[in-house]
Amino acid sequence: MQLPNEVLHIFDVFLNSGYEIFLVGGAVRDLVLGREVRDWDFTTNATPEQIQSLFPDSFYNNDFGTVGIPATNPEFDVHEITTYRTEREYTDFRRPDSVEWGKTLNEDLERRDFTINAMALNKEGEIIDPWEGQLDLKKKHIKAVGDPIERFQEDALRLMRAVRIATQLEFTIEEKTLEAIQTHAPLIHKIASERVRDELMKILASNNPVHGIELMKETNLLTEILPELDKSFGVEQKSPQRHHKYDVGTHLLMSLKECKSTDPIVRFATLLHDIGKPQTFKKQDNGVLTFYNHEVVGSRTANNIMKRLKFSKADTEKMFKLVRFHQFTVDEHQTDSAIRRFIRNVGMENIEDMLTLRVADRLGGGARETSWRLEEFKARLIEVQKQPFSTKDLKVNGADVMEVLSIPPSKQVGQILNNLFKKVEEKEIENEREVLLNEISRSHPKITAS
Ligand code: ATP
Ligand code: MG
Repeated sequence: MQLPNEVLHIFDVFLNSGYEIFLVGGAVRDLVLGREVRDWDFTTNATPEQIQSLFPDSFYNNDFGTVGIPATNPEFDVHEITTYRTEREYTDFRRPDSVEWGKTLNEDLERRDFTINAMALNKEGEIIDPWEGQLDLKKKHIKAVGDPIERFQEDALRLMRAVRIATQLEFTIEEKTLEAIQTHAPLIHKIASERVRDELMKILASNNPVHGIELMKETNLLTEILPELDKSFGVEQKSPQRHHKYDVGTHLLMSLKECKSTDPIVRFATLLHDIGKPQTFKKQDNGVLTFYNHEVVGSRTANNIMKRLKFSKADTEKMFKLVRFHQFTVDEHQTDSAIRRFIRNVGMENIEDMLTLRVADRLGGGARETSWRLEEFKARLIEVQKQPFSTKDLKVNGADVMEVLSIPPSKQVGQILNNLFKKVEEKEIENEREVLLNEISRSHPKITAS
């Protein structure tokens, strides 16, 4: 196991001053797995003050009791050095009431969440593994350190961490740990939404997000965090007219599986695109199932989910648009202005993602990736974007209008530009400067005369 020089240097500085120092947590886990390591986290018996005196360029984050040392390699995150800790006395399912410095490495490992995260590595490359994390890495499962129920009661974020880490590593969750999550899933509401959201985003950004959502469902975390999605499982879509292979929830999962974007927000929108279907489900007398306006209802539901999970305004808006307009028509008889309206609604910056969602929707419903209509629609999107999009793209502006008609600035100037734009849009006239100037005086003779 070859460690980077800057990591070896940190080992040396501590050891030369007589302190104990170990790599811990995700770094050791990922080294054993042969995965790329970006976070080199250490634990030591030196106090934060002692660590800071060893590294003049270090900084202390009092909230976490962690000293950071800037990394040399830009690929690495800040090296985090944490003094041995023991954490006991949890009363609010969140944070330890008091952080106490531990005396030994073993004490520190014991407070960590999962066996595979509770290993340490010394400078010689020996692994200290009192909780048999290496065995669990071989078994490819996530297992709590000690009694799982107690551990989840101590800190409920671990519920989501178990699912997130299992997803990232494509592991399963060990039986007793899984049972404890299933029975204690509601504790997740003790955790700040932002932290839950961050775990969810890591699940969605992983290589196998479907595995993560399935694990959330299996552990009952889905019904706590995304009840709207949980309810969509089992909502039938089969009807005599239109063949749908899957129920709504399964279709959403299949769409996520087919989503070609790596952006977790686009993946999330793909996962939620039909979230309005359970609420709009109707069975007609002839047995046909309908979901009228499900995209309108669904966009509101998705918006609520984003707000509840404290997503940024920009992400929330993007989610809303992707869900709201996912049913866009690709009918070849659409006018250019209808296509322009679509671009304006979705936002130019989201068009690519909107198409990605549509393809995922098709594939996730058992259809072919594309159709000639969709291809033609894409071609028209490109064509239409070459055309003037608003009055700003006209080859004349308000000053020209005022000059030609000798009128002062007024609302009328804007109206005249709008009329010009409509004519250009309908291809009645060309967007050429001379043509437009002529058109201004031709269509407003009265003003010129006065
Ligand atoms: P990642 O690859 O996401 O960084 P990680 O395992 O390194 O995974 P971190 O959040 O960086 O996760 O945490 C570093 C280590 O701190 C973990 O490996 C674990 O030992 C410990 N740890 C983190 N969060 C908790 C928690 N809520 N309860 C107990 N131990 C935790
Ligand atoms: Mg880490």
